[in-house]
Amino acid sequence: MGARTAHSCDVLVIGAGIVGISAAYYLKKYRPETSVTLIDSGQPMAFTSAHSGENYRNWWPHPIMTQYTDRSIDLMEEIATRTDNRINLTRRGYVLATRNSELNTLMSELEYGYSQTPSSSIREHGNQSGSYQPPTHADWLKAPTGVDVVRGEKLIQQSFPSYDQSVQTLIHVRRAGSVDSQQMGQHMLEDFVAAGGVRVTGHVDNIETSGRFVVNCSNDDVQITAEQLVNAAGPFIGEIASMLGGSLPVSHTVQQKIAFEDKAGAIPRDMPFSIDLDSQFIDWSEEERALLSEDEHYARYAQEMPGAIHCRPDGGDNGSWVKLGWAFNDTATTPLREPTLNDAYPEIVLRGAARLNPSLKSYYGCLPKNRRHYGGYYTLTKENWPLVGPMNVNNAFVVGAMSGFGTMAACASGELCAQWVFDLEKPEYADALSLKRYENGALMREISSLTSRGIL
Ligand SMILES: Cc1cc2nc3c(=O)[nH]c(=O)nc-3n(C[C@H](O)[C@H](O)[C@H](O)COP(=O)(O)OP(=O)(O)OC[C@H]3O[C@@H](n4cnc5c(N)ncnc54)[C@H](O)[C@@H]3O)c2cc1C
Repeated sequence: MGARTAHSCDVLVIGAGIVGISAAYYLKKYRPETSVTLIDSGQPMAFTSAHSGENYRNWWPHPIMTQYTDRSIDLMEEIATRTDNRINLTRRGYVLATRNSELNTLMSELEYGYSQTPSSSIREHGNQSGSYQPPTHADWLKAPTGVDVVRGEKLIQQSFPSYDQSVQTLIHVRRAGSVDSQQMGQHMLEDFVAAGGVRVTGHVDNIETSGRFVVNCSNDDVQITAEQLVNAAGPFIGEIASMLGGSLPVSHTVQQKIAFEDKAGAIPRDMPFSIDLDSQFIDWSEEERALLSEDEHYARYAQEMPGAIHCRPDGGDNGSWVKLGWAFNDTATTPLREPTLNDAYPEIVLRGAARLNPSLKSYYGCLPKNRRHYGGYYTLTKENWPLVGPMNVNNAFVVGAMSGFGTMAACASGELCAQWVFDLEKPEYADALSLKRYENGALMREISSLTSRGIL
């Protein structure tokens, strides 16, 4: 065994995913003189953060989540501006497609979600409307804000000819798009190190909490002493909490994606991130459906499946890949270093996505060899809101439970975490995004009465 590496710092951040990196970056930004160490058992950005779909939006069923992600988008735009858009921020929006024309619940949800964001107007368009701006540019600087509700079939088919003709209504959320999360993490990491931040590799095994934190990484023979500790361990925030003698109200579901080379050119390169809102019976043949129904593991895929399957081109306007995702799994599991994926997922998500994008049918049973099937954990609270703020142990903080929104929310979460650590002025939503919200009965009742949790 080699000599023990002993190290001490003011603040130790555990976890170098996008969320921990952002916390470390904002800690150094607010207080350059504070010594901050970022520890991870592996490479930075290599666990959940390596599997992000890299999409962002300010569309949420509650105004607090809208304000929080809006703040994060402001910060991503700042980085894009400062780095000549190294992070490939684009903004073609999110298009939500449905075969329904009566959208009372969805419209009330939209209005409520944007009620504290005066710049986000909701505009309605019928066939005659000449004011709808299709997303011809990827450039975030040229894109409109707010939301367009498009009801005319003719206008829909003109603007999105690749969609299935059964679509009756589109909701086009404009402050939404994609970001290169690896570049964003890398940029923040470089800035953190340039500002004097320290990176350490080691797996945290136990933490002594009497007085200062003494963090032991037995296998790596590293010991770190810290005054304050930030738990940004992604799916393992619960494990770190238990090392501190506490627990966190989170669970974990495996969610997957596929990406493949679209040799047939099924998906137009300028198509925005497109979500089929409606539930569906997947397009199996009668024979396939009968076989699935007989198998206890696969029978659910022969039944009605929930909406929110999504598809987008990947790799920019000159690229040739597409990405499909469907976060239908709601079975909680214990996180492992290697999440178990479902071998049938690629064909399931392909057939599901083909309902809105019928050209994808050409890939049934013959997805290109040049493809990736990947996944990770959505670590989430019951209400799908994050946890950013103090833990129930003095000087320990958590920044996590980022479910399917950790890339888009990383910047605002890192900033907010630093404000908690240094006890600085915080945005109005700070308490609501921390463990303190569970003491606010009225807020918790309100959240649980919402029709959606915003899981995509
Ligand atoms: C399939 C999929 C698609 C997604 N799509 C999107 C999307 O389109 N947009 C979006 O905004 N978000 C998306 N997300 C969510 C987003 O990827 C996550 O919320 C985010 O990556 C979480 O980052 P994190 O830093 O909290 O966790 P992680 O990236 O998991 O980082 C945690 C780090 O902690 C380290 N660690 C854990 N325990 C220890 C220990 N004991 N000692 C040392 N180190 C430790 C791990 O090694 C890891 O590197 C998606 C997620 C999945 C799974």
